[in-house]
Amino acid sequence: MGRHIYVHNPFCVRKCPYCGFFSVTDRSLADKYYEAAIAEARFWADFDKGYKSSEISGPDTVYFGGGTPSCVPEDLICGLLEEITGSFGIGKDAEITLEVNPASFTLEKGRAYINSGFNRLSMGIQSLDDEILKTLGRLHDSKGALKALDNAFEAGFTNISADFITGVPGQSVEVVLKDLQTVIDKGVRHISTYSLMIEEDTPFYDRYSETIEDLVSPEAEREMYHEVRRFLNEKGIVPYEISNAALPGFESSHNSSYWDGCDYYAIGAGAHGFLNSVRFGHYEDIDSYISSALNINRDQVDSLLGSEEKKMEQIEGFIYFEERLTKNDRMREYPFLKLRTTKGIDKAEFKERFGKDFEDVYGEELRSNVEKGYLKSEGQMVSLTKTGLDFANLVMEDFL
Ligand code: SF4
Repeated sequence: MGRHIYVHNPFCVRKCPYCGFFSVTDRSLADKYYEAAIAEARFWADFDKGYKSSEISGPDTVYFGGGTPSCVPEDLICGLLEEITGSFGIGKDAEITLEVNPASFTLEKGRAYINSGFNRLSMGIQSLDDEILKTLGRLHDSKGALKALDNAFEAGFTNISADFITGVPGQSVEVVLKDLQTVIDKGVRHISTYSLMIEEDTPFYDRYSETIEDLVSPEAEREMYHEVRRFLNEKGIVPYEISNAALPGFESSHNSSYWDGCDYYAIGAGAHGFLNSVRFGHYEDIDSYISSALNINRDQVDSLLGSEEKKMEQIEGFIYFEERLTKNDRMREYPFLKLRTTKGIDKAEFKERFGKDFEDVYGEELRSNVEKGYLKSEGQMVSLTKTGLDFANLVMEDFL
């Protein structure tokens, strides 16, 4: 199933009013932060050697997310990637993605990123309509977004994903489809579309929590969702997950690893990882991350990820234990993760992983959701129907 690496850059130029992710706008600690992240990367690379047989090659994917990785100097990003690829022994075929924001991405940065080994970009375009971009409080306008895309291609990237937000007050489906067509025409081969979520403790919560359903009715939001999927499919950008679509062969291996229940390292404040069946998280605190990452204690980490008896709840200020999954827990989680994907649940894979027949374990849940029209069962595969996509959370919870 492979191993993967996620790196969290917690810095942004300005906080978007809808954003609930961990990020800060004070970038004065960026140098120190990346020094600490390099120390953490070295630590996990050393851990990786003992954790898996040295005969197995290094992790298959690396993903730098955020926050806005492109808003810190490129030498920090590139220096960390070079440390990771060198110390983990990452192969040439690995997918190495960087999230970038059109407002802080330049041709020079693009060239530096590609020279250091990044081979995939995920660009937060969100919309190409200037009014919608204003509503979202983004720093770029449509012209800036298109210029950033041109720069990315000119720098040499051929595998570029564009993120869009749908269900924004004032947004029409026609405009969204026009935006998608524009980036497809430019050569974008992967598109992620996320419905606007009104998160607590954000300016959007104060602005919209009472009114969002009047401004964008749930029916209109769902209609836009299905229209976007239909449109992308028609253009050959095939939906392969609830929010993601790609030209076949350009699906994100990194994202797919989450739905496949793979192991992944997490580097950086706020990053979450999954190793040795243990889910863990880094505290969302940059100061304590810096001081702890520079002094990681191998024994403490071994205890955190080790046997149940030796389990510690946390390494103060650095990482904390979330849960340890038993084989049974992993079996319960399997349908939950797989139903996000268009391919869905593979009964043969289920049997191979857990030694049980899917229908013996989940016969009732399967039958009732097929009857409701939420799931379809075709041969070995079980997946959400078009109606089921609108009730995905309910269906997935049924299997937990
Ligand atoms: S750029 Fe991204 S991470 Fe930063 S505040 Fe905006 S949405 Fe959040």
